[in-house]
Amino acid sequence: MDRANIVIIGGGVVGCAIAAAVSKNTSDVFVLEAMPKVGMGASTRNSGVIHSGLYYTAGSLKARHCVRGNRLTYEFCAAHSVPHRRTGKLVVATNPEEAHELAALLEKGRANGVEGMRIVDSAAIRAREPHIVAHSAIEVSSTGIVLSEELVKAYARVATAQGANIVTHAKVTRLEAGQDCIRVAGTAGEIEARCVVNSAGLFADEVAALLTGHVKQRPYKIFPVRGEYCEVVKPKAHLVSALVYPLPHPDHLSLGVHFTRTLWDTFLVGPTARYIDDKNDYESNPEPPTEFARRAKLMLPAIEAADLRPTYSGIRAKLVPPGGKGPADFVIERDADFPRVIHLVGIESPGLTSAPSIAEQVSSMIAETLN
Ligand SMILES: Cc1cc2nc3c(=O)[nH]c(=O)nc-3n(C[C@H](O)[C@H](O)[C@H](O)COP(=O)(O)OP(=O)(O)OC[C@H]3O[C@@H](n4cnc5c(N)ncnc54)[C@H](O)[C@@H]3O)c2cc1C
Repeated sequence: MDRANIVIIGGGVVGCAIAAAVSKNTSDVFVLEAMPKVGMGASTRNSGVIHSGLYYTAGSLKARHCVRGNRLTYEFCAAHSVPHRRTGKLVVATNPEEAHELAALLEKGRANGVEGMRIVDSAAIRAREPHIVAHSAIEVSSTGIVLSEELVKAYARVATAQGANIVTHAKVTRLEAGQDCIRVAGTAGEIEARCVVNSAGLFADEVAALLTGHVKQRPYKIFPVRGEYCEVVKPKAHLVSALVYPLPHPDHLSLGVHFTRTLWDTFLVGPTARYIDDKNDYESNPEPPTEFARRAKLMLPAIEAADLRPTYSGIRAKLVPPGGKGPADFVIERDADFPRVIHLVGIESPGLTSAPSIAEQVSSMIAETLN
């Protein structure tokens, strides 16, 4: 049987960033990815925004990893020629009542260490985004956009160049604790690992349950929440020039339907947020463009349903059940019974941004296991 120091289950942005970090100093690192390519899950079905860290509860893993991940992601993109742009963004208040919420959000961002923010008035908003109608906004300079597919591929390339093995078509179906190892088995065969990282995104709860062998004893439960996007192309693509967000939705399900300029000169409207039953259901009962237009018009009156072309969707790995109280933090911890296994669960937004910072934390946890 093959032996590995580290097996990372899941070749999304997080698994690949961890592989890029740990393979600097450790040999025999394997990434096992169920799909034919890396990054086919949430990692390429998102807004592609390099978030600033404004929204998250002070002291949370989301706040810490997003703020540090923002800087690390820009550095990584520059060093590895990953297409990206520091666009900045506006979080807008559409009326004077919402302006109080803006002030509270600004304070939250400052407490998290987000730099380069200020409140601007409607004239400044018009100067930046002539078609957006709003009372005031927080202008955030550190937010940007990245081609997420290229980002995942670049982390995978770095890992491979350092000797890591990325194996696709490799779905993990069994985990068994041995004397001083974990036996990892699946569609690509069997391997013994000194340390296992469960970075299986939407399916991290099911992978964690493989260890106990008892589905009823699942230590975690992920609730899938689908987000759909529409795209606005020429001749209406000029209506938004960077990133424009409403205030975050109070149910914590999402940041609200927003506008995201793309690197291919269109803009996205979305994502919506809806609990679904099936983690593989990207398509059934899509929201109609009229519904996107209704919400988008609150900030962008010039947009019409006819301008909106349904494009793609992504599924968030939520730890909060329907009707539950949020937000939940990222879970990054050792298995309670099998400390050689590290679980990453509920890595929803801002996971794309946070990946290199999460990778630093997981690298230290792995070093403790191997030493
Ligand atoms: C609609 C939406 C918008 C978002 N927008 C942003 C944003 O703008 N900015 C931001 O920072 N974050 C954003 N996010 C969050 C971000 O996309 C995720 O946090 C991040 O991609 C999670 O990466 P991951 O590697 O954990 O998961 P994934 O990308 O889902 O990767 C997990 C991988 O594990 C594999 N896998 C699963 N089970 C197994 C198994 N048994 N064996 C082997 N492999 C397995 C899957 O095939 C998959 O490739 C958004 C997410 C969504 C859904």
